[in-house]
Amino acid sequence: MKEPTYIESKRYAASTPKSRRLQLHAEQYLPGGSSRGTAYFKPYPFFVDRGEGHYIYDIDQNRYLDFMLNATSLILGHAHPDVTHAIQSQAMNGVAFSGPTEAQIRLGQMLCDRLPSIDLVRFTSSGTEATMNAIRAARAFTGRSKIAKIEGGYHGSHDFASVSVTPSVDMLNPDGPTSIPEFPGLPKSILENVIVLPFNDLERCQNLIRYHKEELACVILEAVVSSFGYIPADSKFLQGIRDITNDLEILLVFDEVQSFRISPGGAQEHLGVTPDLTALGKIIGGGLPVGAFGGRRDLMEQFDPVGENYIPHSGTFNANPMTMVAGEATLNHLTPDVYQRLDRLGGKLRAKLQSVLDELGMNSVVTGTASLFAIHFGIDKVTDYRTKIREDTTMSSALFMGLLNEGILLQQSCAGALSTLTNEEDIDTLVDAVRRVVQRIIT
Ligand code: PLP
Repeated sequence: MKEPTYIESKRYAASTPKSRRLQLHAEQYLPGGSSRGTAYFKPYPFFVDRGEGHYIYDIDQNRYLDFMLNATSLILGHAHPDVTHAIQSQAMNGVAFSGPTEAQIRLGQMLCDRLPSIDLVRFTSSGTEATMNAIRAARAFTGRSKIAKIEGGYHGSHDFASVSVTPSVDMLNPDGPTSIPEFPGLPKSILENVIVLPFNDLERCQNLIRYHKEELACVILEAVVSSFGYIPADSKFLQGIRDITNDLEILLVFDEVQSFRISPGGAQEHLGVTPDLTALGKIIGGGLPVGAFGGRRDLMEQFDPVGENYIPHSGTFNANPMTMVAGEATLNHLTPDVYQRLDRLGGKLRAKLQSVLDELGMNSVVTGTASLFAIHFGIDKVTDYRTKIREDTTMSSALFMGLLNEGILLQQSCAGALSTLTNEEDIDTLVDAVRRVVQRIIT
């Protein structure tokens, strides 16, 4: 096999000269040329000019069919007329106020209606703040300081979420998950307060949870794990975690920052397990910065400023009306029929991708749920972090870069999401492009 990423990178560089110049310019002022680790890829990311519907255009006017959708958040695609109109109208009336607006009641009510486990909800400006505050609520309520999370699970970029997110194979303890810092300088006290659990291994999780029960405030997890390729938890595992947390009066927090897009009531509806607290983000802001956390009334009342044992929670841009109206305009489009259509298309895409990769003789597996998908090379199944981390990332980098050359944008890991604009033709465009790129790579 030729050096696949190199060949595809050379082609990419030839078609993106303005982006290369902008990257060099950006590096003079911003570390790595941007403000977001995930924005960077080698040799340099393309600089975006605009988004229109299914497509994103770079500064050199290359067009990409967008399955990245700003990390799954743009479920209606780019610049949807209703969302744009809502944002424009609100902007004419002012973009942010220190006082509440009616728009946050409307979006808050929509979330409470869609997620029966949420009696009360608070908005934040990011999913990171949402998981951070859900954890804070659990600690304050239980008076315990430890939390448990899944090995390889991502819940944003705050310190308590920055444990055992992407440890390399050589760092993993063969006896089972341990607390591994994501970056140097993460305080030891954080590591001591985060218990790491193996996904889908109920017995081990039960043992760990029982062992730490006196100090454990909550278990936080995604019921459909994004970083593993949108892998749903085994139903017995998820129910088992719910049962043991109920029995031991430990709170269960679902991170639905991504999975809220899989059904009107998110993964909790899809898999039939109800958490005590939920963290939200991405699609609920209609493309603008957002997060939210909510849950049982007695837990959320801790944030009521006139209540007892008040947990202060502020944020200059929380529930800003621009985000609220964009979120409302977006959720208005997300009817049960729309979810069913996305589900059907997602299933079709995954089946077609798998069949092309099988036909080409690739050791690979296509995973995902509803409108979310991921392609993994070098492995034939993903059940947890330790199976996922064995995938062939050289191959996925080459496919990512090759697809850019074919005018298609995925996440760098070769995962992606559908928007409501995605149609059968788009799916075939992606599948045919995957076939061409893989053929180029292996010949
Ligand atoms: N939780 C999950 C599952 C996510 O995928 C993300 C973001 O990608 C977050 C939390 C953090 O959200 P944000 O990037 O808005 O802080």
